[in-house]
Amino acid sequence: MQRTQRPRIHSAYTRQQPPPYEPPPGVTEVTAWQLAAAQWRDHLPDDLLGVECVTCRTAWPCDAWDIANDMINDCRETAQAA
Ligand SMILES: [Zn+2]
Repeated sequence: MQRTQRPRIHSAYTRQQPPPYEPPPGVTEVTAWQLAAAQWRDHLPDDLLGVECVTCRTAWPCDAWDIANDMINDCRETAQAA
């Protein structure tokens, strides 16, 4: 019996390349982006094992990161072509 693999996290950014505080061109929800980007950076996995959120101390990705990541994805998807 095969176990279903956990789907890979869908994110355009990584810890090495986090979302910028200033939204990319075309993003109209500037404030939403800035809040989401700050939250995204605050809720990264720990450096040691990368399994726990450094802020929440719960299994990563934590809810806060998920919400921020969704918001960033939404902003990018609805961004007007520059
Ligand atoms: Zn967190």
